[in-house]
Amino acid sequence: NDNVVTRPTWIEIDLKAIQYNARLIMKHADATRMIAVVKADAYGHGAVAVTKALYDIGIRDFAVATISEALILRQEVDHDDFNILLLGVQDVSQVKLMVENRLMPAVGTLEWLYQAVSFLTDSQILDVHLAVDTGMGRMGANSQADVTELYHFIQKSSQLRLNGVFTHFATADDDNEAYYKQQVTKLYQWVNGAGIPKKYWHLANSGSALWHHNEIDTDTIRVGSVLYGFNPGSPALDMSIKLKNVLSLKSRMGAVHQLQAGESVSYGATYTAEHAQWVATLPIGYADGYLRRMGGMKVLVSGEEAQVVGRITMDQIVIALDKQYPVGTEVTLIGRDGDEKITIEDFATYAGTIPHEILTSFGVRLPRIYH
Ligand code: PLP
Repeated sequence: NDNVVTRPTWIEIDLKAIQYNARLIMKHADATRMIAVVKADAYGHGAVAVTKALYDIGIRDFAVATISEALILRQEVDHDDFNILLLGVQDVSQVKLMVENRLMPAVGTLEWLYQAVSFLTDSQILDVHLAVDTGMGRMGANSQADVTELYHFIQKSSQLRLNGVFTHFATADDDNEAYYKQQVTKLYQWVNGAGIPKKYWHLANSGSALWHHNEIDTDTIRVGSVLYGFNPGSPALDMSIKLKNVLSLKSRMGAVHQLQAGESVSYGATYTAEHAQWVATLPIGYADGYLRRMGGMKVLVSGEEAQVVGRITMDQIVIALDKQYPVGTEVTLIGRDGDEKITIEDFATYAGTIPHEILTSFGVRLPRIYH
């Protein structure tokens, strides 16, 4: 947090809101267990802090994308009685590391399993999650024969143990219901056909838990977005529950000065003051994830909207003010100020992208402050 003193731009994260959202989505989806998706540093929120907060409310299953993300959790979280699932395709030569750190890879091919077994000693056991590709096209067994073959191979091997079976939905958070239903049908056919008991299944991502919980048995949900309080289907779908906002992005005015009529701001001189105009410079730029295309976006000053003017630069932006403010005045770039708020969905929509991409683009120069 020393950074906040030396460069006053920061992210505030409400861990209680994450805990609240976790409980709310489980209740809504009628789930008894959650695999919390904390990959990409918990979607930019800080995987260690988020994992600890969720551990404190009883969650014992976490998912990350890479081995190094998993190792950070094993090293930094005091407890060790929690599971870590590795989503995505892993390098099979790393299976020893996985066993030693009790990491469970998602597996999708027999070839991968053959090789994995060859890397292990007779007494080592690798817990795996069988990935079923019902329509995402990234990884996994994609026919009933393949699912059955993989399942039998795992069952027969003394070095492999099944811990879960899952699929990932491509359209759970948009209005294309037909594709979603097709994926559910395939999953049921193949996994039931292979005889894999329901206790192993985890299917629902956020969109599925929010909008389709009645269509699948969701004892276990596997969610990211909803924990962080945003609508994964934005802007196409409305929320069915009221999640709490988790993240705010704030800064303080570093310089406040007056432009004269005809004077311009930033590269390309794209903004020119028409009359005497107070402006402030904020210490944040595209290197922090305040994307270059955010020019013209609004921010909040004293509960009122102000506008970003001129081009976003690497480390600084300029906002137009209705009057002079003292240097050091707080500015909200995402979050609430008085009656006004700027949501992560507003921000992402303005940027022409989704909240996930914005959140995971916030750079290391922005300290995360937890409360
Ligand atoms: N499961 C898998 C396999 C994923 O890749 C992801 C994230 O991309 C999730 C679950 C979580 O998705 P969401 O953030 O929509 O809940």
